[in-house]
Amino acid sequence: MHKINTFTLEGQENFGKILQTILEAPRDQGDIVLRVTIDPPAVCPACNEGKLHRHGFLKGREKKPKERKVRHAFLYGRWVILSWVPVRYKCYRCKKTYTLRPPGTNAWARFTKLGVQIVVYYAQRMSFTGAAQILNLTPGRVIRIVDKYIQPGLRGDDTQGPVVLTLDELSFSGKDFVCVVGRLAPDKRPLSILEDVRTATIRAYLEGLKEAGVKVEAVVIDMKDSWRKLIKTVFPSAKIIVDPFHVIQDANRRLNEARKVEQEASKENIPRLPLIKAKERLTPRQRETLEKIRNKYPSLYELYQLKEDLRQILKMDRVEEAQAALSRWLINAECAEDAEGRVWARTIKSWRSEILNLVTYTQQGRRYTNGYIEGKNTLIKMLKRLSFGFGNRTHFIKKMFLGCCPQNLIPQLLT
Ligand SMILES: [Zn+2]
Repeated sequence: MHKINTFTLEGQENFGKILQTILEAPRDQGDIVLRVTIDPPAVCPACNEGKLHRHGFLKGREKKPKERKVRHAFLYGRWVILSWVPVRYKCYRCKKTYTLRPPGTNAWARFTKLGVQIVVYYAQRMSFTGAAQILNLTPGRVIRIVDKYIQPGLRGDDTQGPVVLTLDELSFSGKDFVCVVGRLAPDKRPLSILEDVRTATIRAYLEGLKEAGVKVEAVVIDMKDSWRKLIKTVFPSAKIIVDPFHVIQDANRRLNEARKVEQEASKENIPRLPLIKAKERLTPRQRETLEKIRNKYPSLYELYQLKEDLRQILKMDRVEEAQAALSRWLINAECAEDAEGRVWARTIKSWRSEILNLVTYTQQGRRYTNGYIEGKNTLIKMLKRLSFGFGNRTHFIKKMFLGCCPQNLIPQLLT
């Protein structure tokens, strides 16, 4: 350990000197210990009059002044550790005693607030093990810090104005899902990750929000009837918006099923991609293939056309236009040669007002979708690849919550 002169933490005048010492300290000496002294305030903070007098040390088990050490900053691959001897002060006027600590430190925590932020900063961007390696800590230590200081929860401003929520299920492994709850407005931020997607779990969470005084203006969900019913029960006046991404996913699923049936019947390979991909992004070759499908399998192409029409509707920003287009779409779907058209029409008809809600908000310049986590799918894939500890559901959920937080802001810390 590299021992350094005494510095006063308050005031900036010594900062240059501290930095210089750190830069000059030999690298092979490991962490840097900064011994700090703490100046007592001029007058007692309690009575605002009495002067503070030194009243001995805080003693450790060995009955001698016990040095406290906390990790404070991480510079050039080394921890800067603050070290001080807790000194007790007493105000003889009001008899109050104080044990002074450097600012940003807690009574028994091993990291200062800045130290915690550094650990969280790394844990948010890579695996817990990766962060632990870089920071020269054990993975267990990183996890404990994240666990202790990062808790999903409401912030003060959640109960001020109306909020727009999003509920989305994500696969933990196979058919085991968790539910991500986020806030889309006034700003975008994850609120919580629920352990499972059971109605009872989601209901309890939503009712908790309601009891806390959260006013929900709208909720974005995918086409899950049980969730829609639930939201209508707990927040009857909330508008429900269907997530366009899931509508397209559902469309592609239907299209793909129909493709497989055609393939089975004709014993010929029908490529999937030209059907699934957005029309404007097809390569010339894929467009050719699509043209062949159109000639050979007209009823499959009809479903393809329905998918493309639906995509256009979901992109619209004028409600009247969308209403008219949706009515036309429903007629086309009902008349489709493939029986899937009627089944599909029933679903879309049942979600008609939620689709129109999407367009209504888009028209107001507020487009709400579940794609609020930038590159969400990439994130999930990355999380699943990370080797450490994801047999453990709690770690996965914690990691996911951290990963969903915007990276330009360190999530709020509990102190
Ligand atoms: Zn006093």
